[in-house]
Amino acid sequence: MSNRTVDVAIIGAGTAGLAALSQVRRVTDNFVLIDGGELGTTCARVGCMPSKAIIQIAGDFHRRHVFGRFGIRGSNQLSLEIPEALEHVRDLRDIFVDRVLAGTTDNMGTEFIRGYARFLEPQVLEVNSLRIRAEKTIVAIGSNPVVPEAWRSFTDRVLTTDNIFEQERLPKSIAVVGLGVIGLEIGQALSRMGVEIIGVDALETIGGISDPAVNQTALTLLGKEFPMYLGRPADIRYSRNELVITSDNQDVRVDKILACLGRRPDLKQLGFERLGIDIDKRGIPKYDPETMQIQGMPIFIAGDANADSQILHEAIDEGRIAGCNAVATEINRYKRRTPLLITFTDPNIASVGTPFTDLEHERLAVGEVRFGPVGRALLMGKNKGLLRVYGDHQNGRLWGGSMIAPEGEHLAHLLAWSIQQGQTVHQLLQMPFYHPALEEGLQAALRDLQKNMSGSTHSKLELEPIGG
Ligand SMILES: Cc1cc2nc3c(=O)[nH]c(=O)nc-3n(C[C@H](O)[C@H](O)[C@H](O)COP(=O)(O)OP(=O)(O)OC[C@H]3O[C@@H](n4cnc5c(N)ncnc54)[C@H](O)[C@@H]3O)c2cc1C
Repeated sequence: MSNRTVDVAIIGAGTAGLAALSQVRRVTDNFVLIDGGELGTTCARVGCMPSKAIIQIAGDFHRRHVFGRFGIRGSNQLSLEIPEALEHVRDLRDIFVDRVLAGTTDNMGTEFIRGYARFLEPQVLEVNSLRIRAEKTIVAIGSNPVVPEAWRSFTDRVLTTDNIFEQERLPKSIAVVGLGVIGLEIGQALSRMGVEIIGVDALETIGGISDPAVNQTALTLLGKEFPMYLGRPADIRYSRNELVITSDNQDVRVDKILACLGRRPDLKQLGFERLGIDIDKRGIPKYDPETMQIQGMPIFIAGDANADSQILHEAIDEGRIAGCNAVATEINRYKRRTPLLITFTDPNIASVGTPFTDLEHERLAVGEVRFGPVGRALLMGKNKGLLRVYGDHQNGRLWGGSMIAPEGEHLAHLLAWSIQQGQTVHQLLQMPFYHPALEEGLQAALRDLQKNMSGSTHSKLELEPIGG
């Protein structure tokens, strides 16, 4: 067993680990980055990027359904060559992965170690036959798709996001089990590519939507594309070479299951139990989200590994906070950004700021718009959806919003930026809204919110009078 002493050890060369590295490097070159799995980050390899590539293809192909209305003929001649489409997804994936590797581990020397790390003591790690004494350690080991133990007997019929993008052909039918963000995105895309999809979820809500009105609209819109069975766990049987999903007393036979039951970090492998760390029921250590430190220990946890908001920009922030604090003489607290979650379905689903279920209902005012009559949405043939915004009766501040809306990803950003700046509905309505833009939908929702705020005295003019 050989020994090495470093200032910082980073476990995991994914998005959070690499973000941490960028900060650590500013202060010391005595560090190690350790990774035992596939390199290139979850985002580029099997996450954000290949999923958006498949969504792009499926969405473009699906557009043929509006062509007739626009007077464009011949759309029924269009076909999708699945193997070519999937190869294109992998080509793009390879570009994104290569880009990550070229800027990071490809150029590292002995400070990059291939292997799985585990703790022997809070400041001692073991990787392969190397013992590393680290002043500080950053845990950034990511997460893995959850696959129930009961499905082990038919694993060859189970797809996850780890292998779906590796398929060269698509099965005829798939049951997407779990209709959160990932299940909805991939389920809709595969359905648009011609796979017979059924969606199953134990909850009555989809895509993590907490606003009941938006959820209902999402169910209506997305439910037209593939059947969804909600409100009870999927009853899945595999016998005589047949995979049967029973829902609403109906048996549906499918070729494969796509497991979208969430993602869990595999923290057990790190041996936290040896360190006397307080761990919750899910096996996740308590940590401070403003410092990323675990319970006063010389250990930080960032990205999907802490099982909080498993999204990319949060993983980057957490990695940076952990990296800064790992090399700082004293631990600093960092203010987190306004929550922003986007599901790249069509229409996009997005939640911004405080979720509906966490709002203080005595002070709550709600404004909304339906996209049916919104001019630009009509021109695009995308005039479907609902946008709801929440504000505080007492001070006019915007609290949050929820939507299933055409190009909602952009409207969600505008809302998130405004909320983070602490703007009031009146201030937002003083901003320019161009015609005909989808932002006019947001403007209509904000006007409705202002109207519904008790004590709202602002004139319809919305412009500030000069000199008084
Ligand atoms: C299908 C899909 C779509 C997504 N779409 C989006 C999206 O559109 N927008 C968005 O914001 N987010 C999206 N995400 C989420 C986003 O990809 C993740 O939140 C992000 O990649 C997490 O980064 P990370 O650094 O925590 O983990 P990772 O990038 O997974 O890095 C973890 C690293 O740790 C290594 N490792 C694990 N255990 C050990 C060990 N014991 N020792 C050494 N190394 C170890 C692994 O090999 C891996 O390289 C999506 C995820 C999926 C799966």
